[in-house]
Amino acid sequence: MSAGDRPGGLPGDSAPGGEAIEIIGLRKAFGANEVLRGIDFHVRAGEVVCVIGPSGSGKSTLLRCVNLLEEPTAGTVRVSGTEVTDPDVDIDAVRRRIGMVFQSFNLFPHLTALGNVAIAQRKVLRRDRAEAERIARENLERVGLADKVDAYPAQLSGGQQQRVAIARALAMGPEVMLFDEPTSALDPELVGDVLGVMRTLAEAGMTMLVVTHEMSFAREVADRVVFMDGGVVVEEGPASRVITDPQHERTRSFLARVL
Ligand code: ADP
Ligand code: MG
Repeated sequence: MSAGDRPGGLPGDSAPGGEAIEIIGLRKAFGANEVLRGIDFHVRAGEVVCVIGPSGSGKSTLLRCVNLLEEPTAGTVRVSGTEVTDPDVDIDAVRRRIGMVFQSFNLFPHLTALGNVAIAQRKVLRRDRAEAERIARENLERVGLADKVDAYPAQLSGGQQQRVAIARALAMGPEVMLFDEPTSALDPELVGDVLGVMRTLAEAGMTMLVVTHEMSFAREVADRVVFMDGGVVVEEGPASRVITDPQHERTRSFLARVL
């Protein structure tokens, strides 16, 4: 069964413990500015890995290289064994296997929550309206918005809109989910609901790569934490070690600023 056939999208297709994301020698330059300077790490199926680091360290670029929103300058990225950096790869097929949630929710203002979650299923996966809406309802329920299916984005709080965006990504049946600072645009009192949905997803076995400044989420939910600075991975390891007992001065000074 392909990812697109799986209505719920959980758990990922990859066997638990297999490599869901492999990043090997990844480099990315914008002109003379080398933003990623040789990144190596992996995410196993079912794992939650949080990427932390100062602004400008290359975290968003890293995530964008995983689904080819940016084309790497060098290196290899594999998602569930498919080399996405292979020039012959079917980019659209790869992107269908990767859900992405950004800081900004990017919902269509003229569509309801249900319509927002159904539309890509219909256009990209060619599901018919009834099936797309059934799967949309399931996923809106999963993010705690069963009572908001008919609401328009303007009628929803930022946290609710972000949960619609998460439901939209899940409805595509992704094998992995990428989150780029999903709570950074939210008022503080709305952050908890979004993190709660992400925690539930993690507990259900979803493979997740999460850029976040929420250190308590990283400490409590992540299997591993990767600290990036200046386009390299400075250190990585269990959250308890990287956040509580960092080995490198750069990690210590970053944590001193955010904790
Ligand atoms: P982070 O997410 O850690 O804050 P980014 O990956 O967004 O860092 O950015 C890292 C560096 O790459 C920054 O110096 C930024 O200006 C640069 N950069 C990111 N995207 C582009 C782009 N499309 N064109 C040119 N420079 C970019
Ligand atoms: Mg960023």
